[in-house]
Amino acid sequence: MIYERIFYIVIISCLVACQPKQSTTSGVRWPFSADSAYSYINKQVAFGPRVPNTAAHQDCGDWLVGELYRHGAVVEEQHGTMINYAGVEQPIRNIVAHFKGRSAFTILLCAHWDCRPWSDEEDDYNNHFLPVPGANDGASGVGVLLEIARQWQSLSTMEGAIGVPSIDIVCFDVEDMGTPNHYTGLQREDTWCLGSQYWATQYKNTPTESRTKYQYGILLDMVGDPSATFPREYFSTLYAGSYVEQIWRIASQLGYGRYFVNQSAYPITDDHLYVNTIAGIPCVDIIDYKPNQQTGFAEWWHTQQDDMRNINKQTLQAVGQTVMTMICSK
Ligand SMILES: [Zn+2]
Repeated sequence: MIYERIFYIVIISCLVACQPKQSTTSGVRWPFSADSAYSYINKQVAFGPRVPNTAAHQDCGDWLVGELYRHGAVVEEQHGTMINYAGVEQPIRNIVAHFKGRSAFTILLCAHWDCRPWSDEEDDYNNHFLPVPGANDGASGVGVLLEIARQWQSLSTMEGAIGVPSIDIVCFDVEDMGTPNHYTGLQREDTWCLGSQYWATQYKNTPTESRTKYQYGILLDMVGDPSATFPREYFSTLYAGSYVEQIWRIASQLGYGRYFVNQSAYPITDDHLYVNTIAGIPCVDIIDYKPNQQTGFAEWWHTQQDDMRNINKQTLQAVGQTVMTMICSK
């Protein structure tokens, strides 16, 4: 993803269609294990950088499909192609897992599972052509979602869990192949998030009566750093403001205000942008944003340091617990 220094002028064709019901945490502590999420992240990193068109990417994708299936999902793979920054066709492999709940609505949870092919924020130019390990940038969001999937299996069949909604977990491919810094051609924003652009376009082109009606979506991106801060990102507030309010209120009630800070952030071009603008689903991005860094992101961002040393279980617990509580809120 990349963030915009220049404020966007966006014409809102349609504001958020449905307002969330008033949330209450009701004193319930929904289950979420940071240990488990951590091990799911570690497992992805152990495949090696999940750069599209590599064996590590293929193997990790197969493993993700297996894990989601093992946790009781109906799993679909969405294959397609998009044109990359250099004008070359890029295969896409989005992984979509459907979990049937007990209430009438469905919530979309998403993260990208690919890694950036270039460490182009490294000081040393020689390192720019090494792939990013992607512990935070990719694996962390997917790791939290896999743990939610694991919990969902027991939760959805639990006696009395009437309000548990259906969830779709979508692992987007090719988020992080946006134009590299060393490219001498045009730097284009829409070269990021190719998998989500593809998914959102397919969704939009599906007849209304036969597509899933999502109440809202949550995107997780870079959610494992020990000093992570998640301000209210601009596009999230623009398109899904009432859900932003609800999530940040829940986080505060749970004692996670140190992570879910009450600040706003610049617009960030991330997968949620296309879920909002192409698919028309209100979607919130929970993303570690560092306003004092020149890039807007942590120091390890798009470098060789994006590894397990920068994954912290307390941060994972804060994110996982908040998301679990949000989706179980009535
Ligand atoms: Zn990235």
